[in-house]
Amino acid sequence: MLLEVNQVQMYFGGIKALDGVDVAIQPGTIHAVIGPNGSGKTTMFNVITGFYKPTSGKIHFNGIDITGEKPHFIVEKGMARTFQTLRLFPHMTVMENVVVGRHTRIRESFWRAAIRSRSTIKEEKGAYEKAEQVLDLVGLIDKRHQLANSLAYGEARLLEIARALASDPQLLLLDEPAAGMNPSETKQVMELVKQLCQKGLTIILVEHDMKAVMAYSDVVTVLDHGKKLAEGTPEEIQHNEHVISAYLGKRRGQQHA
Ligand code: ADP
Ligand code: MG
Repeated sequence: MLLEVNQVQMYFGGIKALDGVDVAIQPGTIHAVIGPNGSGKTTMFNVITGFYKPTSGKIHFNGIDITGEKPHFIVEKGMARTFQTLRLFPHMTVMENVVVGRHTRIRESFWRAAIRSRSTIKEEKGAYEKAEQVLDLVGLIDKRHQLANSLAYGEARLLEIARALASDPQLLLLDEPAAGMNPSETKQVMELVKQLCQKGLTIILVEHDMKAVMAYSDVVTVLDHGKKLAEGTPEEIQHNEHVISAYLGKRRGQQHA
């Protein structure tokens, strides 16, 4: 398993955002995490990526215990994420937004930068080359010199994925990448996710668009009130009694975020 989440609890005062969750992510898969609003999906991303230290439980990535480690350490180990809401630098170019995301991979001390050693220049060059590569991958290469705030909404979300990819992750966590997108933008982002997976990336996908989740994921984990309600293939989840009654059925007509 690439990632193992064991009995993770994350309490905020009296709120049990995660209440003993076990999830194992197989390499090379698209693993969706679904559940109603407030079920703990984003919190799970936050504890996996080191933004929150879990109240209890363990997280192993590639066999390494990363529980409670800082985000930059976890990025270095090969994990990257996007956020539920856009976090771009609007007045920087598309290219600059990606290069900024890569900074954790540039091992540049102040003094080395000051004297601009050969290796620093090489690393900088590498950062721009990598940025071009990921922008090409997400289809934004022609817009690399534009300001981020000139992008359409769907493009801005793709830029965030490009930025996450710039750190060369093995595991990519996407928090509602298709939120606010129209059907054609959703298809575009989901096709990108599929393509990334075919290139060997493992993806954890939080998404409320059930059609997209069912069409593209290999495994689906369902959270409800901070607990794992069900897990299986899209087919199994769609027919799971607990999911139908506790989630899809009861809340039919509402947005299944
Ligand atoms: P989801 O992403 O599934 O919609 P979240 O993980 O954002 O759900 O939230 C799960 C629960 O944890 C909610 O009740 C939310 O209010 C609570 N929560 C999340 N983050 C915090 C925080 N930083 N402080 C307090 N409560 C939080
Ligand atoms: Mg969320």
